[in-house]
Amino acid sequence: LSNPIILRKSLEAVIQLAEQYKKEKGRIPVLMEVCGSHTMAFAKTGIKTRLKDHVRLIAGPGCPVCVTDQKSIDTMIELSRDTNRILCTFGDMVRVPGSKFSLMEAKTEGKDIRVVYSPLDSIKIAEENPEKEVIFLGIGFETTIPILVATIQEAEKKGLTNYTIWMTTKLVEPILRTLLNGKEINIDGFLLPGHVSVVTGKNSFDFLVKEYGISGVITGFEPVELLRAIYKLLQQLLSGKNEIINDYKYMVKNDGNIVAKKLMEKYLDYHDEAWRGIGVIQNSGFILKPEYAIFDAKKKFHVSVEEPRKTKCRCGEIIQGIITPEECILFSKGCTPLFPIGPCMVSAEGTCAAHYQYMKEG
Ligand code: SF4
Repeated sequence: LSNPIILRKSLEAVIQLAEQYKKEKGRIPVLMEVCGSHTMAFAKTGIKTRLKDHVRLIAGPGCPVCVTDQKSIDTMIELSRDTNRILCTFGDMVRVPGSKFSLMEAKTEGKDIRVVYSPLDSIKIAEENPEKEVIFLGIGFETTIPILVATIQEAEKKGLTNYTIWMTTKLVEPILRTLLNGKEINIDGFLLPGHVSVVTGKNSFDFLVKEYGISGVITGFEPVELLRAIYKLLQQLLSGKNEIINDYKYMVKNDGNIVAKKLMEKYLDYHDEAWRGIGVIQNSGFILKPEYAIFDAKKKFHVSVEEPRKTKCRCGEIIQGIITPEECILFSKGCTPLFPIGPCMVSAEGTCAAHYQYMKEG
């Protein structure tokens, strides 16, 4: 899949089609890649730079760390003040600045904050520390949510009473609707997230065609797969025929992962979630059902934090594709991977980090 001749020919084919589009419509097509891993792959492989005069690829809201609002981080830091608690989360989250500190800085001050690779690792920590409350900061999209639910199931099976999850998960459909209803950007087509689609299924994106008349291609992560997806989107734009194409068929079924969906249905209810720089979007996340409240950190612990003050970080606009990282005055000056100001510079899937690592000139 990385054969340089195939890559060069694929790139040429995409450029040819994009030029045809430009000739017919008088402008270059605007495509949004929803997934943060796609954003990183486009930057890393040089596809984005090579296509910049032919196709405008804009990064979307699919990086779970980037969309987590500042208040959730402030809340976790507040929770960690009690020495009877152990906070667990994924690696990137600890470096994201809250209003005053990051979780990493709170850890340096002696708070018990631990990085885990899987939520299931936090179950082990709860078993080993029965006298402490273990709280997992549960971020992520549909890809991660079934794993969080499986973790709750495990805690239930083991009869743990000192384990909870602070759920701040996000769903793809509501944010896409928000972007399309907002009209701040004009999107001609979507490169749809492969991993999320494994769970939600191809049919979960039919609303794009039926309600918005917008095409989409579900794709994998190899450079050739990405180029093929762009090619198939351009074909649709030129023919005027809108549809959702599943170009990741070896992983994605029409109805998705039924077992994972049933598990989510059993344990979770829809919930209004706050998105960084965007605000609360109705039913854009999940919360544990009342019968599983014992595992719900939001029900068990009551902490209040101040509303975060506004900063110069423009991650809220970055995750909606409204601006590019270079349009933020802090990019590569005040904000770098070593001293990040916002999550988009911290995350391994963040747009600012991708631009800094692979596209920054000089
Ligand atoms: Fe935020 Fe830094 Fe990106 Fe600017 S460059 S939007 S401050 S993460």
